Amino acid sequence: MSQQIPTRDLSPDPVKVHQPQMVDLYAKREKIHARAISGFFQNIRNASVTVVMALFFLLPWINWDGRQAVLFNLPERHFYIFWWTFLPQDFFFLSWLFIIAAFTLFAVTVFAGRVWCGYTCPQTVWTKVFMWIEEKAEGNRNARMRLDKAPMTVGKFTRRSIKHAGWITVALATGLAFIGYFTPVRDLWHQTSTGTLDFWMGFWMLFFTGATYLNAGWMREQVCLHMCPYGRFQSVMFDRDTLIISYDNHRGDPRGSRKRGTTSADNGLGDCIDCGMCVQVCPTGIDIRDGLQFECIQCAACIDACDSVMDQMGYARGLVKYTTENLLEQTGDGKYHFLRPRLIGYCTALVIMISALLFALITRVPLSVEALRDRGQLYRETVDGMIENSYTLKIQNKAQTAGDYLIEASADGMPVTIPGAPIHIRMDAGELATRSLTLIANPDDIKSTSVPVHIVITRDGDSSVHAETKNTFLSPRQ
Ligand code: SF4
Ligand code: SF4
Repeated sequence: MSQQIPTRDLSPDPVKVHQPQMVDLYAKREKIHARAISGFFQNIRNASVTVVMALFFLLPWINWDGRQAVLFNLPERHFYIFWWTFLPQDFFFLSWLFIIAAFTLFAVTVFAGRVWCGYTCPQTVWTKVFMWIEEKAEGNRNARMRLDKAPMTVGKFTRRSIKHAGWITVALATGLAFIGYFTPVRDLWHQTSTGTLDFWMGFWMLFFTGATYLNAGWMREQVCLHMCPYGRFQSVMFDRDTLIISYDNHRGDPRGSRKRGTTSADNGLGDCIDCGMCVQVCPTGIDIRDGLQFECIQCAACIDACDSVMDQMGYARGLVKYTTENLLEQTGDGKYHFLRPRLIGYCTALVIMISALLFALITRVPLSVEALRDRGQLYRETVDGMIENSYTLKIQNKAQTAGDYLIEASADGMPVTIPGAPIHIRMDAGELATRSLTLIANPDDIKSTSVPVHIVITRDGDSSVHAETKNTFLSPRQ
């Protein structure tokens, strides 16, 4: 008997195909009510949140050598980082520092995935603090969900007000502390507390207060999902040995509920009891059992949640765990490889960059000089027949203290004199001084129309601090 394969006509309906179809491209954000969870990894996160917050708020108040230790003083164009003072011409060092920070992040990502996102990123840290305030004001996950649906009452209004007051307090403190990195924090505090704050200072403080309130209070995971570029491109840094958080579907599936005290084998199921706890604790609202997703910030809340469920069921922990793609899929030799070519590459580049930066900083001379020729007149002939050249010197004392400096000059193959020598100049810490310099030579000693000259500045009492610049001594052809 001949068999027929069943078929279905899938060609478009000639009537419908010409009718316009309405497709809604806007998906409304589903509010996420993440359940609070405690556990090993959440303890680490709490510790890192405490350290990051303490550093952020306390650093501007630390003094170093009689000034604020970390201060990016934009109006004066002086950037202080503990014992270093950077001026605009040292911007190269700051750029270098940022490149090193970026490479460190790349190396950490290759090794441990999104550990930065989960444990130390300011967005994560501040969101965690805001979620804690929310929980204190409005209750646990179920209470918050009920409160959201409930009509506005005095009780709901009070709870909401307490929450927003808490958020605004933290946001204001954040705005104030942030501006304290750019203007002396003690002056800022005094001006704020006496109501004498400069308009722009107040504007930027309120701007960062608003940004903190919105980002950590309202937008939360939306910042990670739609605004953070790092979240998008970091997956290209992953390799098959990068640490990821993953559900072990070999062990967990098939999922299903069962009575406590029964084994998975009794029920013909895997170890996942399909309780949904890993989803309820997730701050980005995803289900880790669906595999590796870009929304996962690796906060490890699902590990702690699932471990507590496994404990209650009497099953082994680690159904959701830190692992690698190779270990999970049992590919390769089944071992975890700590040293991989990509990680070695990043670490080598880091060691070279950090060593070069340290060498440049340690050997950096805190003094600079530049000589500009007086363009109005190339040279002058004095009444006694000598040849005179004039220059404008720009000298910068990059040291942390004021000091006296000696100005000297010499020319290749001929003597030159400085009227009124020895010339000293006093400069405050960080001061950029402008000073004119005149050099005189005897025409009988001049062998060329253009003779190289060397101008040297030396700090009094410390000959290791000296800077040199070159220019030329011009004269009429002999
Ligand atoms: S899936 Fe797990 S690790 Fe990833 S964001 Fe959600 S709770 Fe955190
Ligand atoms: S918490 Fe664990 S047991 Fe519960 S649904 Fe998630 S993976 Fe399954």
